[in-house]
Amino acid sequence: MTPTADSLISTPNVTLDIPELYQCVHCGLCLNACPTYRALHIESESPRGRIHLVRAAAEGRIELNERFADHLNLCLMCRACETACPSGVKYGRIAEAARAELGPSGSTLARAAANFAFKSLLPSPARLRLLARLLRLYQQSRLDRVVQKFLPARLREMNAMLPVVPGKFFTPRAELFPAIGEMRARVGMLSGCVMSVLFADINEATLNVLRRNGCEVVLPKSQICCGALNVHNGETTTAKKMARQNIDAFLDAKLDAVVVNAAGCGAAMKEYGHLLGDDPDYAEKAEEFSRLVKDAGEFLVALGAIAPRGRVELTVAYQDPCHLAHGQKVTAQPRALLKSIPGLRVIEMNGSDRCCGSAGIYNLTQPEMSQELLREKMASIAETGAAAVVAPNPGCMLQLRYGTKRYGPPVQVFHLMDLLERAYATDKNSSSR
Ligand code: SF4
Ligand code: SF4
Repeated sequence: MTPTADSLISTPNVTLDIPELYQCVHCGLCLNACPTYRALHIESESPRGRIHLVRAAAEGRIELNERFADHLNLCLMCRACETACPSGVKYGRIAEAARAELGPSGSTLARAAANFAFKSLLPSPARLRLLARLLRLYQQSRLDRVVQKFLPARLREMNAMLPVVPGKFFTPRAELFPAIGEMRARVGMLSGCVMSVLFADINEATLNVLRRNGCEVVLPKSQICCGALNVHNGETTTAKKMARQNIDAFLDAKLDAVVVNAAGCGAAMKEYGHLLGDDPDYAEKAEEFSRLVKDAGEFLVALGAIAPRGRVELTVAYQDPCHLAHGQKVTAQPRALLKSIPGLRVIEMNGSDRCCGSAGIYNLTQPEMSQELLREKMASIAETGAAAVVAPNPGCMLQLRYGTKRYGPPVQVFHLMDLLERAYATDKNSSSR
């Protein structure tokens, strides 16, 4: 007999021992901050509703069935509810623990694809680069445009969302890059998986910005993808292996900080202490590592960033990546750095800290909700009249670039490090620093 969806994911041995579950006082103050509740006005699509469901499952009152999974999976993991919650409930930990019990959901094919991506692709930079090369070939041969005409609607949308793969990956020529000018700090830098293959130029810019600010930069060859996508999608076994590898790669290097230019990765790495809390060999090292992790903007402001002198004549709107604003509570520093660039005008947009609908692989797994949020985001950007939008996170950048094509306005999409490096590079005296 073919198993039903319910029987596929139901488990009699549920372990949902989550202390955060009992901190929620059900006040509902998080509801209006939640994008899925704002869109649907259904309690079970709100943080409070989802916490209620997980608590019921933890107490054995309901089963972890397909309906339960649907409510959990429609959550973006944007953590806007954490910012809104006066009781300090760490909703992300609740959802991650529940998703770890559920495992990847969807059809057999979708689960197999997810398992391959989480267990074989993300932990292997070589496989990731091979996939990116194949994708580039597919795009350069223009096969994507031919295929587009024959695909069913859902796959057509996914095909259109594929990011353009650049010809160059981030493959640093050394593991150690000296500071430019007087040395002020010794830092590690995460290369990242998506950042390395799709945004090599932004990794180069980040490396240059750090060096121009007096940082000696260590790029350990043995570092790996941070595991954020695995954690958010309930695949913690490989995530733990990846976390251990990164800890080993960076911790012995005697660093003042581990700098990360991707908001989602930074948030996950700041949580390694929690992820490996029950690992007797790594719990302490993971806590120490997490304390070192800093978002690039956060780190530069704390260091006392050297004000750029080159001009960038541009009006930009700033989009807060969820895992920067809500996951790391970093909102003022990127704005301060943008405002330090001569010629750059920064305009605030409505709901700048509302999720753009990217949320890791959410735009693929929940396309309807993702598109609704993206439409709303692009309308907010259009209202500002800005010529560009800045969003320091690869997922947001990909989603917003797709949004400019699908809904407009035709704005440019930048990373904060990209604009900072432009400002430093256009200063004729910068090399003397
Ligand atoms: S998560 Fe926080 S804000 Fe939301 S209902 Fe619970 S206590 Fe209230
Ligand atoms: S993480 Fe985001 S989508 Fe999920 S419950 Fe919280 S606010 Fe809603």
